[in-house]
Amino acid sequence: MFEPDLEWFYTPLPRRILRLRHIAYNLWWSWYPEAQWLYRQIDPDLWETVYHNPVRFLRRVRQRRLEQAAGNPSYVQQYDQVIAAFDAYMQSSATSEQPAATALAGQTIAYFSAEFGLHESLPIYSGGLGLLAGDLLKEASDSHIPLVAVGFLYPQGYFLQRIDEQGQQHAEYPRLHGVDVPIIPARTAAGHEVIVDVELAGRITYAKVYRIQVGRVPLFLMDIDIHPNTTQNRELLAKLYTDDEQGRIAQEIMLGIGGVRLLRQLGIQPTIWHLNESHAAFLVLEVMRERVSRGMPFAQAMQTVRQHTVFTTHSPSDSERNIFSTDSIKQFFWRYWQQLGINYDTFLNLARTDRPHGPGFSMTALALQCSRRSNAVSQLHGEVVRDIWQRLMAQAYQSSTDRAILSITNGVHTASWLAPELAQLYDAYLGVDWHAQLTDPAHWQRIYDIPNDVLWRLRRLLKHQLLLFVRNRIQQRAQRLGQDPLVWPVLEEDALTIGFARRFAGYKRANLLFHDIDRLKHLLNAPGRPVQVIFAGKAHPEDTAGQQVIREVYQRSLEPGLAGRIVLLEEYDLMLGRELVKGVDLWLNTPRRRHEASGTSGQKASLNGVPTISTLDGWWPEAYNGANGWQIGDEHEYTSNEEQDQHDAQSLYDTLESQVIPLFFDQRDSADVPNEWVQVCKEAIVTVTPQYSTRRMLSEYVQRLYTE
Ligand SMILES: *Cc1c(COP(=O)(O)O)cnc(C)c1O
Repeated sequence: MFEPDLEWFYTPLPRRILRLRHIAYNLWWSWYPEAQWLYRQIDPDLWETVYHNPVRFLRRVRQRRLEQAAGNPSYVQQYDQVIAAFDAYMQSSATSEQPAATALAGQTIAYFSAEFGLHESLPIYSGGLGLLAGDLLKEASDSHIPLVAVGFLYPQGYFLQRIDEQGQQHAEYPRLHGVDVPIIPARTAAGHEVIVDVELAGRITYAKVYRIQVGRVPLFLMDIDIHPNTTQNRELLAKLYTDDEQGRIAQEIMLGIGGVRLLRQLGIQPTIWHLNESHAAFLVLEVMRERVSRGMPFAQAMQTVRQHTVFTTHSPSDSERNIFSTDSIKQFFWRYWQQLGINYDTFLNLARTDRPHGPGFSMTALALQCSRRSNAVSQLHGEVVRDIWQRLMAQAYQSSTDRAILSITNGVHTASWLAPELAQLYDAYLGVDWHAQLTDPAHWQRIYDIPNDVLWRLRRLLKHQLLLFVRNRIQQRAQRLGQDPLVWPVLEEDALTIGFARRFAGYKRANLLFHDIDRLKHLLNAPGRPVQVIFAGKAHPEDTAGQQVIREVYQRSLEPGLAGRIVLLEEYDLMLGRELVKGVDLWLNTPRRRHEASGTSGQKASLNGVPTISTLDGWWPEAYNGANGWQIGDEHEYTSNEEQDQHDAQSLYDTLESQVIPLFFDQRDSADVPNEWVQVCKEAIVTVTPQYSTRRMLSEYVQRLYTE
C-alpha cells in the first residue's frame, strides 16, 4: 500500500487552522457533525466528490479556499469550538456515572473482527456485522472502555455495486489508497514500525500494521499488500469475504494468529480476547501455542486461554459457511499442531463438526469450545443458537450448561445515526447533556413534550432532503448509462415513504411486498393516499438467487402502476443507510422468522422517529410494544416457506391498508399534522433509543462477558 508522506502530500494548511489535519486523522469527526462541517464549508462540492473523507479532502483542496476560511472570523470561531470539544473529549476520563469503565480498571480487551463499519470512506465492511463492530468501537471510546481492536486493511475491501439496464448487479473492486485513509503506521514503544509474519501453507506471509484512531480507541489493521508477499498471495487476501476456501483460511489465519503477534510486538497484553464472530477464532490457538512454547501442557494452556476469551456469534448461516475442510486444515496447520504438542486428531477435535461428506473444522465450534462466555445478539437469536449449538456441544465435548450462550441484544451508536437536526431538537427538550443519560428511559419521556407539529415539520424536512438525495443518485446513474433522466420517475413529497435497505439474502425476502402485484398497485396508488418504497441492497457476488431478486425489484420498478412508486438505488453503504434511516416515514423489515440474528437498521430508524414495520424476528419481538410500530405476521412456525410467505404477505398488506396508511393520511388536524402518527414516532424514539444503543449493549458486555 502506498504510504503518505504527510508533509509533502498535502496542500499546506494555514497556521490558524492547522489542526484540521489532526482532526482528519481521528474518526471522532465521524460522529461529531460540527467537525464535518469544518471541511464541508471550505468547499461543499469537493466534500461530496471525496465522499466525506477529510484526509482526501485536505489532499485536494485549493490553497485559496483554505486561506479564505482561515481569514473568516465566523469560520475560525467554529474551528476553535470544535478543537476545544475534541481536546476535551480526548482528555476526559471516566466519571462515576461510567461504572463499566471502573469495573475494567487494569484490564485490556482485544476486540477482533473481520470487518469494521466506521464510515463510508473506509470500505472495510460489508454489512451488519461490520457496522456493529464500528459502532462498538465508537461506544468504547465514549464510555472509556479499555479496548483495542484488530482487523484487516483490505486493499480491495467489499465491492462497489452497479446495476445495469436489465437490473443485473455488477461488482467493482476499486483499490484503496493508503494516502486516502486516516492510517498511520503503528509503532512500538521504541519507535519501530510493526511487521508481523505468519506461515500460510509453507509460505511466510507478511503484514504491515497500521493504526486508525477511533476517538480514544486504537484500531490496528493488517495490510498484506506489501513487498515481499507474492502477487498471488496478495490477491488471495485482498477482498472481504472471498468464496475461495484457500483465501478464506489464509485470511482467518492472518487475522487470528497475525493479530495476536501484532499486539505482542506493540507490547499490548490483553486480559480479555473478544471474538466478534468466528473469523478470528484461530487467535485462541496462537495464545495456546505461546503458552505451550513456554512449557505449559496443552490441556492447561487451553483451560487458561478459555478463561480469557469471549465470543459473540451472529448469523447462523455464517456459522454454516465458516467451516474448513480437513484437507485445508492439514495443508495449513500440519506444522502448527506439532507446536501445540498435539496430534491431528486432537487438533481436529477442537472444532470438529460432522457433515454428510465427512468431518469439517468449524470455526464457530472452535470459538464456543475455547471461550469462557458466548453471546447471541438478540433474545430470539439466543434461543435459535442454543437449540443448534448447545446440543452439539454437549454431545461432542460433554460440556455442560456452565457455558450457556447468553443473549445480549445489539444496539447502535446513537450519535452516528441521529440526524443532526433532530439532535438539536433533542438538545432543546432533553437538555444538552442527554448523551450522558442516554440509557435512562425516564429521561426519554421528555420526548412527549415536543409539540407534534414541530416534530412533524422536522420529519417532513428530513424526507425532503432524502428525496433530493435520491433523485440525485438516480440522475447520476442515468447519466452513467446514457439514459435520459427524465424518463425516471420523480418521488412525491406527500407520499408515505417506506424504506427497505439490506443485503439481498433469500431469507430477508425483499420481494415479499411483490407477492400480490395487483394488491400492491392498488395500495400504492389509492387516490389521496400515495405510498412509495425506496429499495437498496447488495447481493453477495456469488449469490445468484439474491441477484435474481435485485433484477425482479428493478424490473418491477419500471412496470406501469409501480414506476414512480418503487425505486431501487444502487450501492447500499453506510452513507445511503444513514440517509434512508433518517429520511423515510416507515422502515420495512421482512425476514423469515428465526433467520435474522438481530438487525439494527430498524433501531437506527426508530431513534430518528421513523417507526418500524417488521416480522417478529431478530430484535423486534423484544422491542415491539404495540404502540411503537407494527408487526407483520405472528409467532407461528411454518413448515413450508411458500405457506409462510403467503401468510406474511397478506399480513403485510392488511396492516398497511387498515392501520398504517389510514393513520398517516386520515387523521390530520387543521394544520395538516397527523397527530396519531406522530405519537407512534415519539413512542419509537422513547422506547428504542435508550435500550437499543451500544451504550446499553456494551455495558452488558462488561457485566456479563468481560467481568463476570
Ligand atoms: C445498519 C446497517 C446494516 C445492518 O442492519 P440490518 O438491519 O441488519 O440490515 C447493514 N448495512 C448498513 C449500510 C447499515 O447501515
